[in-house]
Amino acid sequence: NPDFDPWKIAIVGSGPSGCYTAKYLNSKLEGSQIDVLDRLPTPYGLVRNGVAPDHPEVKNVENDFDTLFEGNDDGHNLNFYGNVKVGTDISLKELREMYDVVVLAYGCESDKPFDFIKNSNLEGILSAREFVSWYNGHVDYEWVGPLVEKALKRNSDGSQQIVVIGHGNVALDCARILAKTREELDPTDIASRSLNIIDQGDDNADFMREVSVIGRRGHVQGAFTIKELRELTRLDDATFVVRADELDMGRTEASEKEIKDTRPRKRMDKLLTDASVSTKDNDSQKKATVHLRFLLNPVGFETEDGSSLSHITCERTRLVGDAGSQSAEGTGEMEAIKAQLVSDNSLARNAAPRVRSHILSKALVSIGYKGIAIPGTEGWYDEKRGVLKNTHGLIEGSKEDLGGLYVSGWLKRGPSGIIGTNISDAKDTVASILHALKSASMDPKERSKSVYETLKGKGLNPVDWDGYRRVDAEERSENRRRNDFQPREKICSRDEQLKLALSS
Ligand code: FAD
Ligand code: NAP
Repeated sequence: NPDFDPWKIAIVGSGPSGCYTAKYLNSKLEGSQIDVLDRLPTPYGLVRNGVAPDHPEVKNVENDFDTLFEGNDDGHNLNFYGNVKVGTDISLKELREMYDVVVLAYGCESDKPFDFIKNSNLEGILSAREFVSWYNGHVDYEWVGPLVEKALKRNSDGSQQIVVIGHGNVALDCARILAKTREELDPTDIASRSLNIIDQGDDNADFMREVSVIGRRGHVQGAFTIKELRELTRLDDATFVVRADELDMGRTEASEKEIKDTRPRKRMDKLLTDASVSTKDNDSQKKATVHLRFLLNPVGFETEDGSSLSHITCERTRLVGDAGSQSAEGTGEMEAIKAQLVSDNSLARNAAPRVRSHILSKALVSIGYKGIAIPGTEGWYDEKRGVLKNTHGLIEGSKEDLGGLYVSGWLKRGPSGIIGTNISDAKDTVASILHALKSASMDPKERSKSVYETLKGKGLNPVDWDGYRRVDAEERSENRRRNDFQPREKICSRDEQLKLALSS
């Protein structure tokens, strides 16, 4: 029906949740216009800027998402517009006036606060999110490079100590990237400017990097998954160390029940027990060592010069509670995290001095991302969880006389779940939208200027799909890549991306 004005839908954020929401809406609302807006000139959120560069099979999901935006010339109505920061470049109110439905899928772009750890603002401490964004070439995180370079300065004996706080997969990603050799990272899409700083390799036989990954609970409660853990045990030039005494401490009656009842926990227990027997620490000639430490809660970042991190004081914890909900309780025993090789249980046996100190190069805090409220969403923001309050994706109380407002992905449910989790999540939001549109008393909004024209009219420079494709092609070009295996050499500067994207 030529008179039918199809629904107009805006999706804010082009990460997995935005793309899956677009995909399922498109399949159900044929002929509707769906515009996906992102604040970056490039799409796909954490697939590009979070997923580890050495997991190319995961990043391949980009190929599926590409097909959504291809072929706009054939009356295809799904558009990508990058370099558009909703809340700043265009307000949420403006969007809601232009579209029948707005879906917020802008992810979690902040950190779970860690100011409960004393001195959390010392130099040498970064959130894992900042570190990950930087090694993935995110255009807003160039500033991290000089800090990492400074932090990775060797001690006079050629050693480097890095502590990663948290036992999730992001923590393991950080540890693995730091422990891999240049040869292992060369065929990945890690940005060259980051590889050159992270690279530990020279022929200096004395050089040794130690990465300690510490968590407040035991090995049975780790938030990491077995595949990611196994990768850490199989690195070319890194030893993986687990302390048998810490595994024992974590084997409470409740943990034994968790091991017995849950297959992945059982496999995790076996893998770590085997690793604790087979690793002999310092007898290795390998360049890096990864220590996975349990039942340690960081309580203070310490400094000797008043400005930079020297070591971390951790409190030994014990597990309390029932199987499936055990928590970490402080024991009062302190340890200054010592990232030296410690497989002989000497720290556990030796009670005095109770606090040991060792110069640390760097700490990465990996205790989770957190969603923020962009302007216009404050009324629906749940500060504690960092999400927008919703019921099956419908933002509560948002209806007013404007179109419906919905949410999808990490912003809807919090910063957990893999890419695939966003499929069922997006379907849930799409079902709410379809339900509302079917029973809607409103008609589709009248055609107005396109969002592209509106943004141009404001003097802004949105990047359309063809613009992104120019950036993509340049990143993949042979003369840019380090070698034939590297999928792409990312352009890490927004200005440089825009220069290409806007040159038609
Ligand atoms: P995001 O992917 O964060 O997308 C949000 C998008 O919104 C971004 O593109 C952002 O630029 C945009 N945006 C933000 N603010 C605005 C604004 N104001 N206006 C317009 N746009 C805005 N899952 C796996 O399956 N395998 C893995 O190996 C894996 N590795 C991961 C590694 C890391 C470090 C992290 C943090 C997560 C990883 N995940 C992995 C999980 C996966 O990345 C998430 O499940 C998924 O990205 C969440 O999707 P999202 O769309 O909700 O958020
Ligand atoms: P996560 O899985 O939620 O892990 C967070 C870690 O931080 C947990 O070990 C948690 O310990 C700890 N923590 C939280 N608050 C703390 C506090 N106050 N003090 C001390 N420790 C604290 O988060 P993530 O690692 O950021 O990962 C986010 C999501 O992305 C996850 O779903 C993950 O699976 C996914 N992801 C997947 C992959 C992959 O598939 N390869 C890679 C990366 C990320 P407690 O358990 O004790 O709370």
